[in-house]
Parts: sequence; C-alpha cells; structure tokens
Amino acid sequence: MIFRQLFDSKSSTYTYLLGCETSREAIIIDTVFEQHARDSALINELGLKVKYCLDTHVHADHVTGAWLMKQAFGAQIAISATAGVAQVDLELSDGDVLAFGDSSITAWATPGHTDGCMTFVTNNRLTAFTGDCLLIRAAGRTDFQAGDVNTMWHSIKDKIFSLPDDCLIYPGHDYMGRTVSTVQEEKKHNPRIGGEAREEDFAGYMENMNLPHPAQLEIALPANMRSGKPENEDDVGTDWGPVNLTFAGIPEIEPDWVARNRDAVTIVDVRSNAEFNGDLGHLEGSLLIPLSELRERIDEVPDNKPVVAICQSGKRSAMATQILKSAGRAAVANIPGGIIHWSRLALPGIINE
Ligand code: FE
Repeated sequence: MIFRQLFDSKSSTYTYLLGCETSREAIIIDTVFEQHARDSALINELGLKVKYCLDTHVHADHVTGAWLMKQAFGAQIAISATAGVAQVDLELSDGDVLAFGDSSITAWATPGHTDGCMTFVTNNRLTAFTGDCLLIRAAGRTDFQAGDVNTMWHSIKDKIFSLPDDCLIYPGHDYMGRTVSTVQEEKKHNPRIGGEAREEDFAGYMENMNLPHPAQLEIALPANMRSGKPENEDDVGTDWGPVNLTFAGIPEIEPDWVARNRDAVTIVDVRSNAEFNGDLGHLEGSLLIPLSELRERIDEVPDNKPVVAICQSGKRSAMATQILKSAGRAAVANIPGGIIHWSRLALPGIINE
C-alpha cells in the first residue's frame, strides 16, 4: 500500500493519500484547498488515479480541496450523508465500504465533534483515520457544529476503542507535531478519555475548555458546504500557461509549450557565458544571466512577460525560479531537463555558433 501523510501548517491539518501498488487507484482524505497544487504534484509523480476524495467531516478551520480534486482527477467526492453537503457524489452511511485496487476502507459513523463525523478504517483494521473525533492525547471539540460530548464518548469508547490495540490512529489535526498514535496508547494515555476516565469525567473536561471559535469559521463552513467549490470558478486556474508545481515546490512548464508560445514569455538562461556560447547552444532571443549573478541583476529581467528559466539540465534554472519568485515575480517557471531536453525533443529555436 502506498501511504503518505501530508501537513498544512496554517490549519495544522493532516491529509492522507492511500494508493494501491498494482492498480494505482487511490483515495485522499481531508484535503486542504490551498495545498491542491502540492497534493496534485505528488499524485502525478506517484502515477496515482484518485478514485475518491473523502472528508471526515465538515471542517470549520480550513476549506476542503475536494472540488478541486474532482476537477483535476475526476475523483468522486464522499462525505457522510448526515453532513448535508452540496456537490457530493457519494453520501456515506455507517458501514459503507470504498474499494481502491486491492484495498478498501470502511466508513464508520463516529459523531460527537459534528453529527456527520466519520472514521475511515482500512480493511485489515490496522489503520484508522479518525478526523476530529479521537485526536492524539486529545479529542475534537464538541461545543459547536451540532457537537455532543456524550455522543463523542460512545464514538470513541464503543467504536474506535473496539479496534485492535495495535491499530494506528491518524488524526485530522495535531498542534504539537505528533503524527500517529495507536488504540492502545490512547486507551492508556489519553488525558480526556483514557485510563480510568468515566463518561462524566470526559464531559467535565470537554465542557470546560473555553475554546475560541476557529479563525477561518466564517469562510470555511459555507465553502465546505459546497465541497470547496469556489463561488467564482474563474478564480481557479487562470495561470498564464500550463504550469505544474512539483512536489518540491518548483513551477515547471513543458518545453514544447514554450516553443509554441515563444513570444509570450521571456526566457532567461542561467548558465555561464562559456556554456551559453558552447556546444549545446542557446535559445534564440534568450537573456543570459548566470545564476550566481541573478540576484543582483534581477532588474534586467523584463517584468512585462512571464519568465521561463533554462539551464543545461533544469537544476540551476529550478533555483533561478525560486530567486525570481522571492524577488516578487509571480509568473515564473522552470524548463525541466533544460536545453538538453529541449534539443532531444528537436524543438526549434536553438542557435549553435
Ligand atoms: Fe473539525
């Protein structure tokens, strides 16, 4: 099984990507709208086909990336039927099984944080994605969004704690850098519900936390009731070209697009003078600024067009995109594989003196 745990530092949200090694079918749990480019790059780099995009519940602290996942990969959006969310393809009920390749997960209704919360359990019962029900050494708040502390108690005690002791617990959030726990660990050490705690102890703890409302509440709740579909769809994907952000955070554009749209961009070659005039040649009309000089000569890069950086193999130019971005140039991209890749594709425009 392919498994990745991703983190959004702004909302402390965990996103989980699970995939089948053979069929490449995958599911993704609890995406974050702003992390869509990162998640998409990883999905593409791993060669996965996202079948389902699941949310454990209607989040109040971040906007889901579910709608974006559907647009990008044709993923079916799935969330509890109780959540009453629009744009959903699969409204889940307790016990529903979602298969992806050789694997599957079962949706367990674990209400309490919200009335539509679900825990997703893998078919071997050794991994559970608990959303904001059971957290590591904590539990999700129960003081709004139809939360109920006694319901939460039963969801954790009767359902999640019925899983094997060595079942891994992957929560929806963590604010202290913890990534994973187990059923046994939480049974023993969870300060709210573990050890000898009784229902009234749990309720007393949870009802006296006095938490502020999440900062994103007014934006996140209405957006998540639309599965993260933006009010104005034109806000998405209005980039200047088909730029793909790699998992390393490098914006890349394919050389054949650049060759076809040569006049729409400024090409900056960041190799040395000798390389620029050497065997491999250079692109007609490209601007030579060696990488080591780029920071101090950044004003020489015209700001009227998007900037595409190139070097020999695409490594130095990747660095160049980061320098350009930190200098405030938003429309930048790297040519992966550099001039070597360009000439292998036999694209036009190389001058060889
Ligand atoms: Fe939540």
